[in-house]
Amino acid sequence: MTHRLVAITAIALALVLNLPAQTAPPLEYYRLVPGFLPEYKNASGRNLGNGFATPNPWGAYTACLMATNAKGQRTWRIENELPGGGTSQGSTMYLLEGSERALLIDTAQNTQDTTAGQSDLKAVVRFLLGHENDGKTARPNPVDFIVANTHSHGDHTGKNRDMSDRTVYYPDLDWPRANAPANYVPIREGGGATTHGNGTTIGEIELGGRTIRAISLYEHTPGSTGYLDTENNLIATGDAIGSGYVWAHFGLISQYAETVRHLRDVLRQLNNPAVLPAHFYQVDEASRGPAPIRGHPLDKQYVDDEVAAAEGVLNGSVVGEPYGTVGRNVVIAKVNTGQMTYGLNMLFPANTVDRAYHAIQIPGWSGTVDFAKYPMLANIKTNFWLIRDGSNNSLYLIRGSAKALLVGTGAGVPGLATFVSRLIGSVPLEVIVTSDDPGQIGGLMQFAADKIYTPKDAAIPPQLGLTNVSQVGAGDTISLGTDTANRPVTIQVEPLAGHSATGLTLLDVSDRVLLSGDALGAQSATDGLVLNTPLPDFVTALSAWRAKTDGKYDVVYTAHNFQWFTLPAFVDQLQAAAVKGPAGDVKTIKSAGAADIVASIVLK
Ligand SMILES: [Zn+2]
Ligand SMILES: [Zn+2]
Repeated sequence: MTHRLVAITAIALALVLNLPAQTAPPLEYYRLVPGFLPEYKNASGRNLGNGFATPNPWGAYTACLMATNAKGQRTWRIENELPGGGTSQGSTMYLLEGSERALLIDTAQNTQDTTAGQSDLKAVVRFLLGHENDGKTARPNPVDFIVANTHSHGDHTGKNRDMSDRTVYYPDLDWPRANAPANYVPIREGGGATTHGNGTTIGEIELGGRTIRAISLYEHTPGSTGYLDTENNLIATGDAIGSGYVWAHFGLISQYAETVRHLRDVLRQLNNPAVLPAHFYQVDEASRGPAPIRGHPLDKQYVDDEVAAAEGVLNGSVVGEPYGTVGRNVVIAKVNTGQMTYGLNMLFPANTVDRAYHAIQIPGWSGTVDFAKYPMLANIKTNFWLIRDGSNNSLYLIRGSAKALLVGTGAGVPGLATFVSRLIGSVPLEVIVTSDDPGQIGGLMQFAADKIYTPKDAAIPPQLGLTNVSQVGAGDTISLGTDTANRPVTIQVEPLAGHSATGLTLLDVSDRVLLSGDALGAQSATDGLVLNTPLPDFVTALSAWRAKTDGKYDVVYTAHNFQWFTLPAFVDQLQAAAVKGPAGDVKTIKSAGAADIVASIVLK
């Protein structure tokens, strides 16, 4: 009954709205409007000069006519170029003409106008609307335009300041915290009440014989909004699903997954729709290169690939790698044409039960890490993974030619053994725990058939029933064969008491990696090292430990860490904090170092 009602309603709706009209003309991407200049860039797609080969009467702008539909309504792509071939990226706007008004989607960068009033964004838009497609013949009664923003980032709202004389539809959930201009109107998929503007969001923009629908694409920003034109078979997506790849590390990947699934559902009704990003043909940082996929910027397949990337990261089936551009917490995943940055600490809302394991490979599977920028990773030539469990434990996995070693077993959610074997393939696995902490030994039972190393005198519960256990201590080594550079892979045991009386650290000698377990805590201004022994004892132990390990590693990995590297300077900071001691009866000692190396010690 319900199904039938839905079906009948859908047919009725389709009749009323005349949906979907699949007669929209295909979009052309590079048809310059007469009088506008082609973009000028090098082979890798980076702008040369100011982005134009000759003086541009339109300043920082150029425009392409993408389509003219059967009603004579036009659709343009307007490019805003940034000078130079650096890492910044010019922005793309779209102009959709209706019979009564036009909609400019975004206002790009706040670039310097060469001649305000003549070569500025408004002049460009007015010229396009005011002329026939020959770029010469004036239209007698051209329509004026209004503006809608896809999201709040400055590279898409740069010229909003010039638009105070007209309506600017602004994403409700990106609403400016203070002083929203009076001409801003909140917009959100489906409309509804809000605390912004006059208290009501709108969900559709009527242009006269052309209706544009807001689609929620939250995550890149909290209010990221797409603009869907069903009749003309296109959607402008801003930065919500990126161009070439998406920066999804600003928010939660669970929300990003919801967004790309929603977008996939929205596009399902359309036949080969144009998916129009706000950095057109961005295939790399700063580049404006050739189309990344199949001759157009993005498409349905790209959206499907983004769904696969987001879901794969959440369920652990997709392995990420460091993303070298925005700090050591951000990593990137790739599935077919889809790529997405994310943070291992930004997968689900804080109270979510996450029973998956998530891995990143260091320095990475793509072979693109910049070792000039990250020399501390240059010696890692084993197969090396950081694995996060849902309880925020970091495990490490090192594969040499003869065997692999798992360092730590996390909280013990089922599936770790299967997860690890998928990463390492057919080499035998051995397991080591760096202490008897619950976050180290929680998953040990899953490896009862494997050889297990535990710290000498550690309290490993006998009820785990482990049979193949070797106790290890100072000077013991574990050999894993050779690495990809044919060097012997040796893991050297270096005990350090403090957090745990029997705690270990491990030197991965050829990789020049220190796996510090909980013995050094985690690099952070707040949590840090939880010390269970008297501070003076730890000061002594740390000095002795440093005498054996200093200079033997370029990078530190702790047992509670999101970062794809922590610098050895963190160890100096930890020692400085330990030597400094507490001020009064405060229980946390913090070193004076910068945020990326600061160390804290929490006393009992
Ligand atoms: Zn953005
Ligand atoms: Zn952007």
